[in-house]
Amino acid sequence: METFTPGQQKDFKVLIDFVRVYCHANHDPAAREPFAVPPELERRYRKGVRLCPDCAALLYHGIAKRRKCPLDPKPSCKHCRIHCYSREYRAKIREVMAFSGRRMIMRGRLDYLWHYFF
Ligand SMILES: [Zn+2]
Repeated sequence: METFTPGQQKDFKVLIDFVRVYCHANHDPAAREPFAVPPELERRYRKGVRLCPDCAALLYHGIAKRRKCPLDPKPSCKHCRIHCYSREYRAKIREVMAFSGRRMIMRGRLDYLWHYFF
C-alpha cells in the first residue's frame, strides 16, 4: 500500500478540515455524502466526513494534487512556481481557505494559519 509522508498527511488533514468547515457552514446538509478519507487518516476521522458533491470534488482534487506534489518541503501554494490547481479549483480553494481560516481563528484555532495553503 502507498504510504504518505508526515508532511503529506498533515496537509491532507488541513485540506479535509478546511473543506469540511466550509461545507458545513454553507451547503445543504441533505446533499452531503460520505467522503472517502485517505487510509492513513481514517483513525483521525473515525466518525467519517460528510461533504456535498461539489466540496467532495474539490477535496479529491486537492488531495490528488498534494499527493503528486514534487516539491519537498512543499512551499505554501501562494509562493509556488507550479500552480498545479486548475483555475476553477484554485479560485474555489482560496475561497474555502479564507472562509474556514477566519472561522478557525475566531474559534481560537491559531494552530491553523489560514494562509497555510494560499
Ligand atoms: Zn459543500
